[in-house]
Amino acid sequence: MKRKDFLKTISAGSAALAAATAFPQSVIAKRQGRRWNSKNYTWVSHHGDSDDEARRRLEQIKKSGLKGILPSGQYERWVGLAEEFDLEVHAWWITLQRGGDNYLIENHPDWFMVNRNGDSSVDKPAYVDYYKWLCPTRPEAQEYLMKQVDQILAISEIKSVHLDYIRYPDVILPIQLQPVYDIVQDREYPEYDYCYCEACRAKFKDLHGEDPIDFTKPEDHEVWNRFRYNQITHLVNQIAVKVRNRGTKLTAAVFPTPDIARSLVRQNWPDWSLDAVFPMIYNHFYHKDARWVGEAVAECRREMPKTTPLYCGLYIPEMSAIEVSQAYEYAMENGAAGVTIFPDHTMSEEQWNYLSRVILQG
Ligand SMILES: [Zn+2]
Repeated sequence: MKRKDFLKTISAGSAALAAATAFPQSVIAKRQGRRWNSKNYTWVSHHGDSDDEARRRLEQIKKSGLKGILPSGQYERWVGLAEEFDLEVHAWWITLQRGGDNYLIENHPDWFMVNRNGDSSVDKPAYVDYYKWLCPTRPEAQEYLMKQVDQILAISEIKSVHLDYIRYPDVILPIQLQPVYDIVQDREYPEYDYCYCEACRAKFKDLHGEDPIDFTKPEDHEVWNRFRYNQITHLVNQIAVKVRNRGTKLTAAVFPTPDIARSLVRQNWPDWSLDAVFPMIYNHFYHKDARWVGEAVAECRREMPKTTPLYCGLYIPEMSAIEVSQAYEYAMENGAAGVTIFPDHTMSEEQWNYLSRVILQG
């Protein structure tokens, strides 16, 4: 029997057992001596030099008990390769941050976000040169993104369209990153505060009778903040309808905890229509230890629908091997459905050993 058929047979067997006994998967996992029946993934940001190198990585991913990969591009190539290892592929798609989109930058610079000083993110990007952001309020920009979604959906093997950078630029950076850019963000400063483009100001004025550029303390203006959350939420939910109509799922990488997501990047993701959420619970970015990973998962779960799985994102380069396995356990104890590592190609042998032990025997 081929490896693939063998796997199919055993998974069909488990499904039959579950149906016959009506035991949830977690109970079955427990009977097999495991506490959790998790599904785990990895973001794939490095596309490698050769297919053989990619196969070596996929083999490691598979034997460590991961369920699938989320590549940031080359979707068709990864679908072909992942199929050999029975791994799912989710299309990781950078949505609003369009620093690499030369067509848009050259042809439609007016579709990009503008900060409170009136500077476009095309001409004066914040922090780094690629921080050029498409404004979600503009119908033309929405249409442009919808066409890109169509291109992803044309690949039928893709399990989900996976949104990332689906937010405003960081009005406040995570605490660990502020010294990197030599700035202190003790409040919202105008050069990092978006979007005050013509389209956003006109739409807000239409709805609420005021021009947000006139606000003296915009950070305290609840209606203006909510308006911005809703621009993103509306775009996500439009994409959700399109994706589901085509029988695919919508997932997203988001900031950790709804409170942090709202206050740093105006991302009110518990409102989004998602099939699964992947919060980037990168503890070191916030000067936190592994235990915080569990606390953050619990906080997310409190605001999320019970039926939406959460796959806890872990930032591997700053974690020790034992921290990776601890973070997995804290995440699972607090209601995660699994973890997603970023990225697979920097994982040391020791990190793989610790992670696979908790996944396969945990
Ligand atoms: Zn705008």
